[in-house]
Amino acid sequence: MSEKGQGMALHNKILVGLGLGAVLGVIANVMAGSSPEFKDTLGKVNEHVMTLVGDSFLAMIFMIVVPLLFSALVLGISELGDVAKVGRIGVRSLVMTVLFSGIAVIIALTLVNVVQPGKAIAESKRTELQQQYERDGLKKEGFTDEEVNQIFAEREASPEGKSELEEKNAAPKGGTQADPPVAGIVPKNPLLEATRALSGGILPFMFFALIFGLGLAKSDPEVVAPFRQFCEAIFEISQKVIEFAMALAPIGVFALIFKTTSTLGFTIFAILGVYALTVLVGLALHMFVVYAILIRLIAKRNPWDFFRRIKNVMLTAFATSSSNATLPVALKSAEEDLGLPKNISSFVLTVGATANQNGTALFEGITIIFFCQLFGVPLDFQKQVMIMGLSILAGIGTAGVPGGAWPVIGSIVKGLGVPAGAIGMALGIDRILDMSRTVLNVTGDIAIAACVAEWEGQGTVIPEEAME
Ligand code: ASP
Repeated sequence: MSEKGQGMALHNKILVGLGLGAVLGVIANVMAGSSPEFKDTLGKVNEHVMTLVGDSFLAMIFMIVVPLLFSALVLGISELGDVAKVGRIGVRSLVMTVLFSGIAVIIALTLVNVVQPGKAIAESKRTELQQQYERDGLKKEGFTDEEVNQIFAEREASPEGKSELEEKNAAPKGGTQADPPVAGIVPKNPLLEATRALSGGILPFMFFALIFGLGLAKSDPEVVAPFRQFCEAIFEISQKVIEFAMALAPIGVFALIFKTTSTLGFTIFAILGVYALTVLVGLALHMFVVYAILIRLIAKRNPWDFFRRIKNVMLTAFATSSSNATLPVALKSAEEDLGLPKNISSFVLTVGATANQNGTALFEGITIIFFCQLFGVPLDFQKQVMIMGLSILAGIGTAGVPGGAWPVIGSIVKGLGVPAGAIGMALGIDRILDMSRTVLNVTGDIAIAACVAEWEGQGTVIPEEAME
């Protein structure tokens, strides 16, 4: 895949971009502390260069949200719908997919609420961070520097924290709410929701795609074959566009992390470190506790032996950050190293590469709540349940490619009121988390295949001597 371009592999370039951006950003931050002129120049560089580069990278990801989500969900759901027709195997895989994605998200929500990575820094630093992104947002709305200062001063002076200038300028936002979705979920006008996918329309739009996928599954296959092909083409193209975006990632990540660290200095590492650790602990728990129990109790195999036998699959997933790219290796290993019957493994693994992504669901749950904590978005129980449902759906609707989770996360957090530019800070360190969650994604597919094979009475374990 594109990972293998000439010269340095893409993931290494991203790491270099990240490292350089972080180091130079911290140096710039320290220098700005002692020289007002430098601080001024740094502000201009950030505003005119880094923002432009970073935002273009983010826009490449955002622009593909609607086609990608629509095609992935419609195809994913319709395949799962077909699966129901295929009978027992399908129903069992489907139940396990939903169940294990659900468990992954419960682990995510428990961890993120206990650890609270978004609150890992002092309140004052958090306010500083929020204000920085708010200022950026206001400037993007067309306010000048003086006006932004005036808005902040007015907000401070007003008892309700409101600014007159802002209210006067509050033009009616695009995406009228004349036709709001029923219960906030069932859209009357899915096209309207698609146009405001980045500002709250993502949930009703996903709901529409889900219903559409069900409709596709239940329709006469011959009649709908061209549409299915059309969706497959859109899905394929969308994955290519994510690849393009990822090719820009080294420079995009450099700009985003430079901007963040040069403004916030070391603080940012404290936040991101705790966040990344929370994700890694969650992934490890799901892998070594939940999957281990699943493999032991249902697939009736020794979990450590199981993991050892599929180590090549795990390594490929880790290196490529892509469930799709790992699929051929997974198919081979399931057959040759685990002795799973081809009919079961090819079916479960192929559907699972897109539809069963426990690592991604877990990651999305943690990341969404992390951002809400960091930016003070209130999270009541209802909202957390909604995020749980969205993360499970997102696990199904995420493309199995590097960074596939971001279009979904970006639109959800933006819809919840987190500034879009803020996701850049987590994107900066995403590569290592992407590598790790992809390992869980593919391991989950193989674990489910092994369980289904056992249920079908076809779970023969290949003796050690016959391997390799
Ligand atoms: N890279 C992941 C995969 O291919 C998707 C994601 O979570 O970004 O499985």
